[in-house]
Amino acid sequence: MGCVFCNIASGEQKADIVYQDDKIVAFKDRAPKAPVHLLVIPRKHIRNLNALEESDAELMAHLMMSLPAIAKEQGLLDGFRTITNTGKGGGQEVYHMHFHILGGGKLHAM
Ligand code: AMP
Ligand code: ZN
Repeated sequence: MGCVFCNIASGEQKADIVYQDDKIVAFKDRAPKAPVHLLVIPRKHIRNLNALEESDAELMAHLMMSLPAIAKEQGLLDGFRTITNTGKGGGQEVYHMHFHILGGGKLHAM
């Protein structure tokens, strides 16, 4: 079976994309858990944080450094929450690494 997030990155699968460049894609979560709920993925298929290799460092830095601008562009001017679920123990459902950006309302304290 193919990877749904690889298919979104390639354009084969429809998604509401809010930002993309040569390394990453950001799109709206299809089951939003906050007024603004985005997913940010690397175009490269990496399962999760446990699968990172040393050579992914630059890509990961780019992804992390891009989060604030993506959040601001979606109206999250006073802050946002970032979550990434890793593996079964982390409740990961889609095994293509993604960072949730949540905000736009009152979030529960963690
Ligand atoms: P998790 O792996 O636990 O971080 O959860 C996967 C997230 O991806 C969930 O919040 C889903 O709603 C979201 N999701 C799954 N498939 C799609 C899709 N095709 N388009 C947008 N969001 C998706
Ligand atoms: Zn993938």
